[in-house]
Amino acid sequence: MASHVLKGITFIVLAFAFSFAVRLIWVYQFNDFESFKYAGQFMINTNDGYYWAEGARDLLTGISQTHDLSPIKESVSWLTYVFAMLLPLSFETIIFYMPAVLGSLVVVPIILIAQNLKMIEVGFLAALLASIAVSYYNRTMIGYYDTDMLNIVFPTFLLWSLILALRTKEEKYLLMTALEIIAYRWWYPQSYSLEFSFLGLILVYVLIFDRKNLFNFKLITIMLLAMMGLPSLIRFAGVIMLYVFFKQEKWQKFLWYLLALCVILFFVTGGFAPIWYQLKSFVFKNAIEMSADVLPLHFFSVIQTVREAGQIDFTVFAERISGHTITFILSLIGYVLMVKKYPAMLLGLPLLGLGFLALWGGLRFTIYAVPVCALGIAYLLFTSSVYITGLFVNEKLGNIVKSSFVILSSLGILYPNLLHVIEYRVPTVMNKIEVEQLDRIKSILDREDYVVSWWDYGYPIRYYSDSKTLIDGGKHNGDVNFPVSFMLTNPQESAARLARLEVEYTEKAFVLAEENETKSKEQQHNIMNNTAQMTLDYGFKDANDFLDALQTPLSLPAKTRDIYFYLPYRMMSIFPTVAQFSNIDIMSGKTIRQPFIFQTTRFKDLGATLDFSSGVVLDKAKGMLKIGNQEVPVKNFIQTAYTPDFKFVKEQNTIHPNGLFSIIYMQAYNTFLILDDAMFNSSYIQLFVLENYDERFFEPITLEAYAKVYRLKI
Ligand code: MN
Repeated sequence: MASHVLKGITFIVLAFAFSFAVRLIWVYQFNDFESFKYAGQFMINTNDGYYWAEGARDLLTGISQTHDLSPIKESVSWLTYVFAMLLPLSFETIIFYMPAVLGSLVVVPIILIAQNLKMIEVGFLAALLASIAVSYYNRTMIGYYDTDMLNIVFPTFLLWSLILALRTKEEKYLLMTALEIIAYRWWYPQSYSLEFSFLGLILVYVLIFDRKNLFNFKLITIMLLAMMGLPSLIRFAGVIMLYVFFKQEKWQKFLWYLLALCVILFFVTGGFAPIWYQLKSFVFKNAIEMSADVLPLHFFSVIQTVREAGQIDFTVFAERISGHTITFILSLIGYVLMVKKYPAMLLGLPLLGLGFLALWGGLRFTIYAVPVCALGIAYLLFTSSVYITGLFVNEKLGNIVKSSFVILSSLGILYPNLLHVIEYRVPTVMNKIEVEQLDRIKSILDREDYVVSWWDYGYPIRYYSDSKTLIDGGKHNGDVNFPVSFMLTNPQESAARLARLEVEYTEKAFVLAEENETKSKEQQHNIMNNTAQMTLDYGFKDANDFLDALQTPLSLPAKTRDIYFYLPYRMMSIFPTVAQFSNIDIMSGKTIRQPFIFQTTRFKDLGATLDFSSGVVLDKAKGMLKIGNQEVPVKNFIQTAYTPDFKFVKEQNTIHPNGLFSIIYMQAYNTFLILDDAMFNSSYIQLFVLENYDERFFEPITLEAYAKVYRLKI
């Protein structure tokens, strides 16, 4: 084996081992946490991972259900499925370790790029840094089972093959580039924006600097073919054929026809459509509004509650890319110097640019700038070390100073990132007891049954209990969140009827949407929001009248399956947010009076008063609650607890029959709840906190301190 190949492999193996070993710190830290483990393995720590896990599970068991939202055609599920078939490891082990293994692959293209520039040490340091840089680590850490594990690996490979294509003009890089584009698009369909930026940059470069070279036009042709709006397999076959064609000198003269053909096909097959759609949504913001419904309703927008979408400050931005602001700024200087020496490095701009989008578009983009910045800082460090050696007359002394400088600075660059890894102690999504309970109900419920819960628990519920859900990590717009929020925050009678209606209407809407695909425009069903459809079906014009009517004995649609309510303790802290989604007049879009719910574990008994913190104080003798400078009479004081043999008990005292707020002390959780009447009567509080289930509508299935599950009786 040629020595440079051996050298490259050695550095890659070392960098990979480093990246993987750093990711094991989490495992080491939580080794004794039995609550983080299930089925003999750690559970994953990202909610969305349960989506892919559901798809992979269904692929492995060969189950395909209609309308269950399981991603059995998606890339992550498929790759997991293939690993699970090939490897002698448990499914839980595979999904837990996959991100650490695949994410660490980012070291390969980084080292390969540097090796081509004849400075493999730069690549090695850059690989070490990139593999554990704050944002890259966060999204490829062990257990972070999501598309992120390859989202940076693919474009970094693309960067490598494009740089080498331009620098070496070797045909094999045409093939690699095209195959990477196909694989990247398969893995992550949103990848087109980066592919377009790369293509655009190549076009500009070729047209301005290098028009004479046929090789460049071959590159553009094969990239267009790889990016077309055709199925992956067809593009794959086309790319292979084109590559074989390019290898034949005598067919060179047909290149221009092929290029023209690819340009035409590219547009005809909708290759440009994703970008066109993006532009349209920017330029004509109002044009793509929802088509007017017979009954237009207004729902709460989920973006109003998502924190990530905001602007971030520069220090946070820099630290997430390089671990430290100074490192980040130096890395940009290094990148500029690198581009001056090696113009092909300009191809790093799309990745860098996408990273900078984080300043406006939210934290999740910083991850893209990581590899390019890592190369930049490593390059700066090694070029300055060469400069330092030159300062010394004594060569030996110069080398010692140089080596110390390189080693110390490298450690200095890695240190803040390592520190972050050690401090970033992310918990698993679920705990063992919760998962055991979901696994138990799996044997009770049917695969076609629905479990009603807030969207945060949708994917884990579907994965562990093999059921269906109304909302989940991907389906949680205001209109679908509304009915679930309504069920959880309204009395049991309305909640029960709406649950039956929503499930049956959701199933019906799936069928109608499917039928629409085969019908002409005129014959298509008009599918509107379920709540709007129900309102009209029950003969109302105002959706609020329909919602009020849920308290009366409406005739309900035929029951096609069972429905369960999954009410976890976890939801307590986000219950005010849950409530927001139905605390809206959907006819006008205006917010209704804010419901009052206050939860605290920081309270002090001061004898005559009970201080709940945040300016909420109970005057025990008067039974009055002071909230800021308001004073309101307390209606109920309730205490819940478990007996030593785990029997749920509660004790209720009415203080002022006409009181406004109720106080609940949940001894098992050492938590106080203060609620207004509406919140007190909500299904979640009645069913989870008090176990006051209305026997006409609900029957308990499993009642545990972490979560309570009820079956709907209607
Ligand atoms: Mn399913």
